[in-house]
Amino acid sequence: MSKITIAIDGYSSTGKSTIARQLAETLGYIYVDSGAMYRALTLYALRAELIQNDVLDKEKLIQSLPSIFLQFTFNPKKGYAEVYLNNKNVEGDIRKLEVSKYVSRVAEIPEVRRKLVAIQQEMGKNKGVVMDGRDIGTVVFPEADLKLFLTAAPDKRATRRYKELLERGDEVTFEEVLENVEFRDHIDSTRAVSPLKKAEDAIVIDNTDMGLKEQFERVLNIANRVINQKKKDA
Ligand code: C5P
Repeated sequence: MSKITIAIDGYSSTGKSTIARQLAETLGYIYVDSGAMYRALTLYALRAELIQNDVLDKEKLIQSLPSIFLQFTFNPKKGYAEVYLNNKNVEGDIRKLEVSKYVSRVAEIPEVRRKLVAIQQEMGKNKGVVMDGRDIGTVVFPEADLKLFLTAAPDKRATRRYKELLERGDEVTFEEVLENVEFRDHIDSTRAVSPLKKAEDAIVIDNTDMGLKEQFERVLNIANRVINQKKKDA
């Protein structure tokens, strides 16, 4: 078996999911967007009114965890798997700024992480997976064959996310988006459980001044090298 596990971590809006999706498609691997799972739980909390006046009721959310069912279903029209929350497609709703505002608070809760990490590990147990997130190379798959850590200047990242949200028709300001990107990076990097940090053996890709095509070619080359080495070792 020469299939490998690829872990992609990094700061918010560094284009992790774009690169992960392209890699998975080219290699014929499964792509898992772990952030979508944290976002879906956050959407659940908002809809169940567990977040009110900016306050998250952590205890109630923890109690609700056993009745929250997450699932990915491949959408052939889009070419990737969309996330379902209790059997409803929530792919569109989880990308809204309202969810982005609270997701890092939800992702700090150890019980939430335990539940989602277990699902992620199960999804990747047969290898042939590209997963992106914040703790994939450090916690979910510490033995991953290839670990990438993506970074870029904050204003560049906010500009990309701002354009994405505008294209989707959301009414947001650039300042709001920049503030959210920096706020999430701060919470994600400083939380007690599984903080965002580069795994020691991860390859850093700073894409501040790199186009998508150039970045993809570079990453695909690296992945092919690792896959070929694995074939030789087998
Ligand atoms: O990847 P995305 O930006 O959609 O992730 C949303 C949020 O989910 C992150 O800001 C982080 O708080 C949380 N997250 C996490 N661990 C992961 C993936 C996402 O804590 N593996």
